[in-house]
Amino acid sequence: MIARESSYEYKRLKNDIFDILSALDTGFIVAGKTVLIKPNLLRAAPVEQAITTHPLIVRAAVEYVLQKGARPLVMDSPGIGKFSRIIRETGLADALSGLEVTLAEFTDSVKIDFSLSGRTVDGLQVKVAELAREALEADCIINLPKLKTHMQMGMTLAVKNLFGCVVGLRKPQWHLNIGENSDHFAEGLISIYMMLRPSINILDGILAMEGDGPGTGGTPRQLGVLMGANDALEIDVTVCRMLGLQPDWLPTNKVARKLGIIGDINVDGTITQINDFVMPSTTSLVFGPSLTRNIVRQNLTSRPAGNKKLCKLCNECVNICPAKAITNDGKSLHFDYEKCIRCYCCSEACPHGAIEVQRPLLSRLFSRLSRSKD
Ligand code: SF4
Ligand code: SF4
Repeated sequence: MIARESSYEYKRLKNDIFDILSALDTGFIVAGKTVLIKPNLLRAAPVEQAITTHPLIVRAAVEYVLQKGARPLVMDSPGIGKFSRIIRETGLADALSGLEVTLAEFTDSVKIDFSLSGRTVDGLQVKVAELAREALEADCIINLPKLKTHMQMGMTLAVKNLFGCVVGLRKPQWHLNIGENSDHFAEGLISIYMMLRPSINILDGILAMEGDGPGTGGTPRQLGVLMGANDALEIDVTVCRMLGLQPDWLPTNKVARKLGIIGDINVDGTITQINDFVMPSTTSLVFGPSLTRNIVRQNLTSRPAGNKKLCKLCNECVNICPAKAITNDGKSLHFDYEKCIRCYCCSEACPHGAIEVQRPLLSRLFSRLSRSKD
């Protein structure tokens, strides 16, 4: 695991990315091979919003692959919006201009039985899924996640970034099939990770996101850090430690620990401890026998709500909601909390930061009580 202080000044950044890649590239990237580079391209947004992997990090990775004589593909399946607009507004199209690289959206899925692939481990429930063809067929994957908070999953780091290899509308379908239990969703994410196993992962934590991410509801936060590892889990565990969290706080780390797939982590470089990073304001509580579960859910679990002042009634959230829990009557939005699975896709989709987290009264009272006991 390598950690480096860095910046988006290209000369320095390229030097850092080349250093990390050369240290981690133990023969993966060789002439004639196809290398998939997978950034986080969630939506069209300028780099200052910290929603997507910085385009110059992608450029440096492409230059490294080209220098090795391999064939780079830069691909993702964005959650929201047209790919052409995303690569224009994030600056990625400009950053890669003049380089011999394929920049495209995943469109083709292949159904794969994980248990037959030899790449899964005992104990994982998700056995079959459809993943992007290029991700399955590439000789090697370089995963380039962004360090961001995530209202459903706590944070989106290296493991979660691979969810972008689930193509298009199959993403909301995953949310719907798995439901609102973040531990179940984490199992699905670990299954995808085991299946794709990127050879190299480099996390963009130079301009990170805190608060109610991963979309326009989050707040950019300068951390100035790059992390690289062959094992994506090493990055995810190290980020938790850097932010003063137990690694198990992240549901994917918890699943991985239970499966026994997290090894010892040795860090090359210095990591500065950050104790005031703002985590999402969501709580996901689904427990108890089914009779009481609904009462707990209604009274303790955070839920999305529209901010009337910011909402432009554009329907992006209505269209993306996998549970069909949002309706627009032309004057305001209405949420059906019986149907809502608390996936916060609506928040990711909203271009105006108009989805807020609402905490039921009982939940607020509990928090106040527990704070007064500290
Ligand atoms: S309302 Fe939002 S959080 Fe609830 S299911 Fe729909 S997209 Fe997910
Ligand atoms: S996406 Fe945002 S602005 Fe558009 S309808 Fe939903 S809450 Fe309103």
